[in-house]
Amino acid sequence: MSVAVEVRNLKKMYDGGHVHAVDGVDISTEEGEYLVLLGPSGCGKTTLLRTIAGLEQPTEGEVLIGGSVVNGLPPRVRKVAMVFQSYALYPHKTVRANIEFPLKAEQMDKAERAPKAHWAAELLGIDHLLDRKPRQLSGGERQRVALARALVRDPQVFLLDEPLSNLDAKLRASARDELRRFQERLGTTTIYVTHDQAEAMGLGDRIAVMDHGKVRQLGHPVEVYDDPADTFVATFIGSPPMNLVPHDGTLVGFRPEHLLPVETVTGERVTTPFHIERIEYLSGDRHVYGTVTAFGEDTRAIARLPATIPVPLEAGEKHEFGIAVNRVRFFDADSGQRTGPIRLDSHHG
Ligand code: ATP
Repeated sequence: MSVAVEVRNLKKMYDGGHVHAVDGVDISTEEGEYLVLLGPSGCGKTTLLRTIAGLEQPTEGEVLIGGSVVNGLPPRVRKVAMVFQSYALYPHKTVRANIEFPLKAEQMDKAERAPKAHWAAELLGIDHLLDRKPRQLSGGERQRVALARALVRDPQVFLLDEPLSNLDAKLRASARDELRRFQERLGTTTIYVTHDQAEAMGLGDRIAVMDHGKVRQLGHPVEVYDDPADTFVATFIGSPPMNLVPHDGTLVGFRPEHLLPVETVTGERVTTPFHIERIEYLSGDRHVYGTVTAFGEDTRAIARLPATIPVPLEAGEKHEFGIAVNRVRFFDADSGQRTGPIRLDSHHG
């Protein structure tokens, strides 16, 4: 069973109103959706998740699960399962006992508990580890035990708070893939907190980008990447981030992969001289650091050239670069909000 989660004008303040951890958030998930809360440290992701779980009471606003307001209801009856970054397993209990623990706490019969634990373990591919203790497991396996333990209670909603952050980079990538496939099989609505944009882009049906307790943008990964709502989203997402060049009260934005040697850009394009300062080779791409001079003010920018663009470039030289006009985005220089296009001299190439 899967249900949708909604929060309406949710606020959570601490210290007598001095800290606005969550500052008026409206989010509504679809049933079975995988929604990622993404944002820098301290932006309020964990507080929002804990408020949905019922571990915190909102200062204002409503939390709805399956269409009903659950404010004031304890976590247990909300039918949500939460897995934290620091999922503590009981070190002296076996994997089986760890997974069965929440069922035992609900006084479920042993005969009923065992098949449930086995089902969850099988689903996560750890059924051969049921008799081990946590210390005899790898980090990834422990992670899966924590997930299995969350799963046995038939949650209607999964709330996951950076559950992969204890794993090394390589394991994270495979665990991410596993988590996604597992969620697709179960179809349980999932809200997933991370500050890692690669994780967010890879996992989310939609991403809510948060900053200072507010949602800056909620959209499909492609949408937040290609059409950021403001300069915060434009620069938080993307590595290297979007280039922003001031021009007449407007910031002209373009992604590093769209700033390319002019001879490789076809169609209508904006052109600029690019003073190259430094070139880095990263995973087959060239990251070219330099200064663009076309828009009035000299501004530092980064270009990202894939190996398929073998144009020779050297530090110290000045090369004409171009950006396809349909790749350029505009933001208000004061508010940082997305605005309509301004006139830039463009050429056909
Ligand atoms: P991280 O990625 O570092 O975990 P986060 O986005 O999850 O960060 P929260 O943990 O939700 O951020 O914290 C949001 C803000 O609320 C922070 O400024 C934090 O200091 C503050 N905060 C959180 N819990 C409390 C509390 N119990 N008392 C006072 N302030 C708190």
